[in-house]
Amino acid sequence: MQDLYGREIDYLRISVTDRCNLACRYCMPTGQQEPAEDVLSFTEIVKIAEAAAALRVRKLRITGGEPLVREGICTLCAHLRQIPGIEELALTTNGQLLERYAAELKKAGVDRLNISLDTLHADRYREMTRGGQLAPVLRGIQAAQAVGFPVKLNVVLMGGFNEDEIEDFVQLTREQPLEVRFIELMPVGPGAELGANAYLPCEEVLRRVPELERMGQTEGVARLYRLPESVGRVGLISPVSCDFCCDCNRLRLTAQGTLKPCLHSDKEISLRGIAGEALQRKLRDAIGEKPDRRPEFQPGQASAGGRPMYRIGG
Ligand code: SAM
Ligand code: SF4
Repeated sequence: MQDLYGREIDYLRISVTDRCNLACRYCMPTGQQEPAEDVLSFTEIVKIAEAAAALRVRKLRITGGEPLVREGICTLCAHLRQIPGIEELALTTNGQLLERYAAELKKAGVDRLNISLDTLHADRYREMTRGGQLAPVLRGIQAAQAVGFPVKLNVVLMGGFNEDEIEDFVQLTREQPLEVRFIELMPVGPGAELGANAYLPCEEVLRRVPELERMGQTEGVARLYRLPESVGRVGLISPVSCDFCCDCNRLRLTAQGTLKPCLHSDKEISLRGIAGEALQRKLRDAIGEKPDRRPEFQPGQASAGGRPMYRIGG
C-alpha cells in the first residue's frame, strides 16, 4: 500500500523477542530485560503478517532481540513463508545459534540471512558483545552457506573499535559469495552514548578501499560496490550521513505487538487483541503515520525512537 508520500510500503520487520544471548555495548543497556510473557504469540504474529500481506506487504524480516533464542522460531518461519502474497522471508541473527538452526531455517523456507559481525578478532568480539564467542558465529556462517543461504554480514562501523578492519571485511568478498554491509552507528539507545568518535560515516570505507567500484544498482537502502573481479560485494548503509527516508518502505512490529511507523519516532500503534477489518484499519493508520523524513540528528543527541535497538528490531 502507498503512504502519503507515494512510497510503496511492502516490507514488515517483525521482532519476535526482546531477549538476547549477547549484550552488544551499542545496542543493549545493562539491566532488566522484558519478561517473555509480554510478547506476541505465534498465532498473533501470523495474523498480523496475513493482514499486512493483504495490504501488499511482500517481504518479511524476523529480528529481535535475538530471534533464534525464541523457542519454535523455525515453525513460525514456516507459517509466515506460506502466507499468500509473501515473496521473501529474511532473518537477522547474531549467529551464535546458527550452526544448530541453519538447515531447519532453510527447510522452513527462510530465503536469506543477515548475520551481525562487527569484528573478526575474538578478543574484540568478546569485549563488544560483553562475553560472546566469535567461533560459533564463524561456524554459523559456514553452516548457512553450506545449506545454500545467501548471506549478508552486518558490520556496524565504530571509530576506535573496528575501522582498522574495514579492509579485512572487504577482502572477505574477494573469494566468498558474501555481501558485507557496513552500517553507520545510529544514536539509538546506548549507540548514542559511545561518544562522538564512535560514529564513522560509510565514506570511510571508500576512503580506505578506493578500488571499490560502484555497482549500478542499489538494494533497498544499501549502495552496492565490489572489488574488481570479486565474487561477493559490499553494501554501504548510511542512516546517519545520508537521508534515505524517501526510499523507506518499511514498518516495524515490536515484540509486544506495537507498530512503529518510523524507527526514529516514539509513535507506536498497538495491534494487540485486534482482528479482521479493525486490524487492517490499524495497519493502514500506521502507514498513514509514516513521516516524510526523520528529524535531523543533532550532535550528541539520541534518536527520538524511544526504545533501544534490541527492543525495536534493527
Ligand atoms: N540480534 C540480532 C542481530 O544482532 O543480528 C538481531 C537484532 S539486532 C538489534 C539487528 C541489527 O541492529 C544488528 O545488525 C545490529 O548490529 C544493529 N544495531 C543495533 N544497534 C545499532 C545502532 N545503534 N546503530 C546501528 N545498528 C545497530
Ligand atoms: Fe543482541 Fe543483536 Fe542487540 Fe547484539 S545487536 S545485543 S546480538 S539484539
